Amino acid sequence: MTAERGQVRVLTGLDAGAYPHGNSVLVTGRDETVLIDPSMSVVARGGAGPVDRVVLSHVHEDHVAGLVRYPETPVHAHQDDLAAMSSLDAMVASYGLDPEAAPIFADQLVDQFHFRARPDAIGYGDGARFDVGGSTIEAIATPGHTPGHCCLLIEPESVLYLGDIELSGFGPYYGDRDSSLDDFERSIERCRSIEAAWYVTFHHKGTYTDRAEFLAALDHFASAIDRRDRLLLDYLDTPCRLDELVRRRILYRPHVQLTWVDSAERHSILLHLARLVARGQVTLVGDDTWARA
Ligand SMILES: [Zn+2]
Repeated sequence: MTAERGQVRVLTGLDAGAYPHGNSVLVTGRDETVLIDPSMSVVARGGAGPVDRVVLSHVHEDHVAGLVRYPETPVHAHQDDLAAMSSLDAMVASYGLDPEAAPIFADQLVDQFHFRARPDAIGYGDGARFDVGGSTIEAIATPGHTPGHCCLLIEPESVLYLGDIELSGFGPYYGDRDSSLDDFERSIERCRSIEAAWYVTFHHKGTYTDRAEFLAALDHFASAIDRRDRLLLDYLDTPCRLDELVRRRILYRPHVQLTWVDSAERHSILLHLARLVARGQVTLVGDDTWARA
């Protein structure tokens, strides 16, 4: 299934773009065809046709999987995510996994996500423009999820591709080694300020054509941050060690089994603890142990 607006086509992913699939975007200009975030579905479908370059919103396993179909095609990523494309080791390291999970995830990256290092990947910065002939793709730095995460604004179609500011009920993901909760919040506000005709998410929410619906979804998405703060404060009614907080979780539901769950919980909880301590709501009461202030 595809949706089209001018020279822009949203390639709806298998399973409606639910992880590990996703919605890639193809921009077919007069001079060039650019594929944005080649997904696992691009792999499953044997590619997305001839492409002159690939532009990545950020470097994560599900957004780079389809590069395996375009091993010779120039690929662009924000300079702050570029290192992860340079080698499998650098890619694995960028997630900041617990030591026992790292080798398991390295195998998954190669076997399930078709990861192939691309040390030739080219860096771009905030405001970079890709002119395909008749349309431009502009990078809008929206860090937090990863340091180099960008939204991509395609004009004149007025399509804002949101990458993993994905508007799901899960809420923002900032569980990697270099993720930033504060940056993510600023990035949400930057997205809010951009008026577009279409808002496209990589995962299953897909395409919003109504600004009011987009804004409501963005509010709901962002509200997960406060929910996690409150959950953590509830846990800390009695003093709690970090390992125990990780076991109790603030992101994932109890039944979810993913290689990176523990490290994602740990990184995220530490980001929340830092802000709750700064606000005077939580205090360190012992060795790796926190409680409500
Ligand atoms: Zn991502």
